[in-house]
Amino acid sequence: MFGIAIFFQACTEPNPDRPRLIILISIDQMRADYLDRYRAEYTGGFKELSSNGVVFSNADLNYASSETGPGHATLGTGSYPRNSGIPGNEWIDPTARKTVYCVEDSSARPVNAEGGSLSPRNLRRTGLGDWIKAADPRSKVVSVSAKDRAAILLAGKNPDKAFWYSSRSGHMVTSSYYMSRLPRWVQKFNASGWIQKNVPGAWTKLLPSSHYEATGPDELVGESDRGGNSSFPHVFTEEEKASQLLTSPYGDELVLDFAFAAVTNEQLGRGISPDLLCISLSCTDYIGHSYGPDSHEMHENLVRLDRSLGRFFDQVRNALGHDRYVIALSADHGVMPLPEFMNITSSLGKRINPRESLQPLFDSLNKVFSRGAREQKVFVDRYGFLDYQSAMKAGLDSNSFEQAIRKGLTRVDEIVEVYPRRILVVQPDENADYVNKFRRSYFSARGEDVQVQFCEYCLVTSHKVGTSHGSVYSYDTHIPILIMGAGVNAGVYSRRVHSVDVVPTLARLAGIPFPEDIDGVPLKEVLEEPPVN
Ligand SMILES: [Zn+2]
Repeated sequence: MFGIAIFFQACTEPNPDRPRLIILISIDQMRADYLDRYRAEYTGGFKELSSNGVVFSNADLNYASSETGPGHATLGTGSYPRNSGIPGNEWIDPTARKTVYCVEDSSARPVNAEGGSLSPRNLRRTGLGDWIKAADPRSKVVSVSAKDRAAILLAGKNPDKAFWYSSRSGHMVTSSYYMSRLPRWVQKFNASGWIQKNVPGAWTKLLPSSHYEATGPDELVGESDRGGNSSFPHVFTEEEKASQLLTSPYGDELVLDFAFAAVTNEQLGRGISPDLLCISLSCTDYIGHSYGPDSHEMHENLVRLDRSLGRFFDQVRNALGHDRYVIALSADHGVMPLPEFMNITSSLGKRINPRESLQPLFDSLNKVFSRGAREQKVFVDRYGFLDYQSAMKAGLDSNSFEQAIRKGLTRVDEIVEVYPRRILVVQPDENADYVNKFRRSYFSARGEDVQVQFCEYCLVTSHKVGTSHGSVYSYDTHIPILIMGAGVNAGVYSRRVHSVDVVPTLARLAGIPFPEDIDGVPLKEVLEEPPVN
C-alpha cells in the first residue's frame, strides 16, 4: 500500500436504491459557458444532463494550476493539488533539478510494447475508485481516456484497469502497473479497424453553415493549422488519421465506444456493490488549443460531442435500466480566448514567452545580487529556485532576499504578483482570492521557491499561434459540474462550488465512506430527498 493514513467518515445507512454504476466524465478543457452558448443546438448528452440533472452554474477549480494533471487528480480524489501531490502536468525535482512527468513511474513497464512507464505512483491521495473498492472489494473500477495522465489520475491509486490511447498505433493501451496483458476484449477492440470504419476522409460541419456564422468567421488570426488547415473541411490523411483524429470529434467517439465496450465486457453495473467507470474526453482540449474557444471548430466539436454523449447515455440506459446509474460531468480546466481574437474588441490579449520574459529578469537580478563578489552566482535559477545561502553571505536575510526578487520581477507590467515559499506554505483559508488559489496548488516538496502570477489575458506560451490554459483566472478555472441519475432532482444552482466536491457527492450518493480529511464536501443539492407525491 502507499502508507497514507485513511480516516473514513461515518457511513450513512446503505441505500437499497443506490446506483450500481457511477460514471465520472471529465471533458478536458470544457468551459462552463459552452453549455449556455450552444444550448439551442444541443439535442443529446448535454441537453439530457442540463434538463434532468443538477447543474452548478458557478463551479470553479478554486486553485491556480489549471492543467490536465492537477485537474484530473483533483476531480478523482476530492483533494487540491496541495494535498494530492500533483501540482502540475510536470514539475522540477528540487534535488536533481530534472523535469518529472506527473504520471511517470520507472518501475512500470509497457504492455504489448505500448503504454509506457506510467502509473499513479506520484499521486499522494486515494480517490473515489479506492473508496469504492475499500467498501467492497467486489466493486470494479475502470478508467479510459485518450490521455494517459487523465485516465491514470482520475482513477485513483488502485483501479482494476486503466486504458489510454496511442496516437502512434491507434490502439488503447495500458502499463504493467495495472495488468501484465491486455484483456481479450481490448485486443479485439484494437484489431477491429475502428478508425478505418468510423473516421471519414474529412471532418465536416454537421449543421447547416448558417448555424456557425453567428460565431464569426471560420478563419481567425492566431488559429494554428494543426493537420495543415485552419478552416473546414479538415481533411485527414490515411497515414496520419490515428493522430489527426485527436484534433477532431472522432477521438472522443472512439473513447466512448471503448468505454461502452468496457461496460459490456467488464460487466460494469451488474453487481450488488457499485462500480466506477471514469471517462476523460480529450478532443475538446486539442481543438481548443489549436483553434480557441470562439472558433467554428469548437462550436462544431461541441455539437458532435453532445450527440456522442447522448448515444453513450442511451447505450448505458438500454444495458442497465434507467434507475441503475449516476452520471457526473465536469472538467479539468477551461481555456483563454486566442489573444488575437480578444484584440478584435480590446487590447488586453498578449502572448508571453516565459523563457524570453523571465530569464532576462533573472539574469539582471543575479547580476545585482553578485555585485561586489569576485564571480557572478546564480541566486535565482531558471526554474525559480532560490539560493538562500549565497544571499545570506551577500548580506540578505531570507525575507529581504525574497522581497528583492519580488520587487525585481513585478517591475515588469505583465507580472502582477510573486509568491515566495513562505507565503505559499501557509494553510489556505476559505477565501477565493489569488494567494489562496496559489496555496491550494502548492505541494511544497514539488514546488519552486517562487511562483509568478502573470496578468489576466496574458497567454504564457512559447507558441506563436493557438491558445492555452494554466492561469488562476476564471476563463481557465470556471468549469461545469452536472450530475444526473436515479434519485437526483433536476435543478440549476448558482452557489459557488468546486471540482473537489464532485467525488464526495458521488460517494455519498452510493453510500460509500470517504476519508474525512479531503478538501471537497458533498453537494447537498444532489443529495436532497425527492419530494413525496
Ligand atoms: Zn486538460
